[in-house]
Amino acid sequence: MSVCQKCGACCAFFRVSFYWAEAAQRGLPESCTEQLSPHLAVMAGTNRPAPRCCALQGEIGTQVTCLMYAARPAPCREVQPGDEQCNKARARHGLTPIEI
Ligand code: SF4
Ligand code: SF4
Repeated sequence: MSVCQKCGACCAFFRVSFYWAEAAQRGLPESCTEQLSPHLAVMAGTNRPAPRCCALQGEIGTQVTCLMYAARPAPCREVQPGDEQCNKARARHGLTPIEI
Protein backbone atom coordinates (compact mmCIF):
# COMPACT_ATOMS: atom_id res chain seq x y z
CA MET A 1 0.00 0.00 0.00
CA SER A 2 1.40 3.43 -0.93
CA VAL A 3 1.87 6.15 1.65
CA CYS A 4 -1.08 8.05 0.11
CA GLN A 5 -3.38 5.06 0.45
CA LYS A 6 -2.69 5.16 4.18
CA CYS A 7 -3.18 8.94 4.40
CA GLY A 8 -5.68 11.03 2.40
CA ALA A 9 -4.94 14.19 4.40
CA CYS A 10 -4.59 16.44 1.36
CA CYS A 11 -8.05 15.37 0.17
CA ALA A 12 -9.50 16.81 3.38
CA PHE A 13 -7.56 20.02 3.77
CA PHE A 14 -7.40 22.13 0.59
CA ARG A 15 -10.03 23.69 -1.59
CA VAL A 16 -9.44 21.63 -4.73
CA SER A 17 -10.18 24.17 -7.47
CA PHE A 18 -9.43 23.91 -11.17
CA TYR A 19 -10.41 25.34 -14.54
CA TRP A 20 -14.02 24.31 -15.00
CA ALA A 21 -13.56 22.71 -18.44
CA GLU A 22 -11.11 20.21 -16.94
CA ALA A 23 -14.02 18.34 -15.34
CA ALA A 24 -15.52 17.36 -18.69
CA GLN A 25 -12.11 16.73 -20.23
CA ARG A 26 -11.20 14.25 -17.51
CA GLY A 27 -14.67 12.76 -17.20
CA LEU A 28 -15.41 13.95 -13.68
CA PRO A 29 -19.13 13.54 -13.00
CA GLU A 30 -21.03 16.78 -12.40
CA SER A 31 -22.30 15.41 -9.11
CA CYS A 32 -18.74 15.45 -7.80
CA THR A 33 -17.94 19.06 -8.69
CA GLU A 34 -19.32 22.48 -7.81
CA GLN A 35 -19.08 25.72 -9.73
CA LEU A 36 -16.91 28.22 -7.85
CA SER A 37 -16.77 31.11 -10.33
CA PRO A 38 -17.40 31.56 -14.03
CA HIS A 39 -14.07 29.88 -14.77
CA LEU A 40 -13.39 27.66 -11.78
CA ALA A 41 -14.89 24.49 -10.40
CA VAL A 42 -14.08 22.69 -7.15
CA MET A 43 -14.27 19.12 -6.05
CA ALA A 44 -17.51 18.89 -4.09
CA GLY A 45 -16.94 19.01 -0.36
CA THR A 46 -13.66 20.91 -0.50
CA ASN A 47 -15.03 24.46 -0.47
CA ARG A 48 -15.93 24.60 3.19
CA PRO A 49 -14.23 25.19 6.52
CA ALA A 50 -13.68 21.49 7.18
CA PRO A 51 -13.08 20.22 3.68
CA ARG A 52 -13.39 16.62 2.63
CA CYS A 53 -13.55 15.70 -1.02
CA CYS A 54 -16.65 13.79 -2.07
CA ALA A 55 -14.44 11.27 -3.84
CA LEU A 56 -12.47 10.34 -0.73
CA GLN A 57 -13.52 7.07 0.79
CA GLY A 58 -12.15 5.57 3.95
CA GLU A 59 -10.51 6.79 7.13
CA ILE A 60 -7.82 9.43 6.96
CA GLY A 61 -4.51 8.17 8.30
CA THR A 62 -5.61 4.55 8.09
CA GLN A 63 -6.81 3.52 4.66
CA VAL A 64 -8.33 5.65 1.91
CA THR A 65 -9.31 5.43 -1.73
CA CYS A 66 -10.01 8.14 -4.29
CA LEU A 67 -13.13 7.09 -6.15
CA MET A 68 -12.21 9.47 -9.00
CA TYR A 69 -8.52 8.61 -9.16
CA ALA A 70 -8.26 8.29 -12.94
CA ALA A 71 -10.23 11.51 -13.46
CA ARG A 72 -8.81 13.52 -10.56
CA PRO A 73 -8.05 17.15 -11.45
CA ALA A 74 -4.67 18.88 -11.70
CA PRO A 75 -4.29 20.00 -8.04
CA CYS A 76 -4.60 16.38 -6.93
CA ARG A 77 -1.82 15.40 -9.32
CA GLU A 78 0.49 18.20 -8.20
CA VAL A 79 0.76 17.44 -4.50
CA GLN A 80 3.47 14.89 -3.86
CA PRO A 81 4.24 12.89 -0.72
CA GLY A 82 6.68 14.86 1.41
CA ASP A 83 6.23 18.24 -0.23
CA GLU A 84 5.20 21.34 1.69
CA GLN A 85 1.49 21.03 0.85
CA CYS A 86 1.46 17.36 1.78
CA ASN A 87 3.06 17.88 5.15
CA LYS A 88 0.80 20.84 5.95
CA ALA A 89 -2.22 18.66 5.28
CA ARG A 90 -0.77 15.80 7.29
CA ALA A 91 -0.03 18.09 10.23
CA ARG A 92 -3.64 19.28 10.26
CA HIS A 93 -4.74 15.69 10.60
CA GLY A 94 -2.21 14.86 13.29
CA LEU A 95 -0.01 12.78 11.01
CA THR A 96 3.78 12.87 11.08
CA PRO A 97 5.56 14.65 8.24
CA ILE A 98 6.99 12.61 5.40
CA GLU A 99 10.73 13.14 4.99
CA ILE A 100 12.08 13.13 1.46
S1 SF4 B 1 -1.10 14.39 2.26
FE1 SF4 B 1 0.73 13.59 1.24
S2 SF4 B 1 0.90 11.42 1.85
FE2 SF4 B 1 -1.17 12.17 2.31
S3 SF4 B 1 -2.39 11.58 0.52
FE3 SF4 B 1 -1.69 13.69 0.21
S4 SF4 B 1 0.23 13.52 -0.93
FE4 SF4 B 1 -0.23 11.49 -0.08
S1 SF4 C 1 -10.38 13.84 -6.35
FE1 SF4 C 1 -9.38 12.18 -5.27
S2 SF4 C 1 -7.26 12.83 -5.06
FE2 SF4 C 1 -8.47 14.66 -5.52
S3 SF4 C 1 -9.03 15.55 -3.53
FE3 SF4 C 1 -10.68 14.18 -4.17
S4 SF4 C 1 -10.23 12.22 -3.18
FE4 SF4 C 1 -8.35 13.43 -3.19
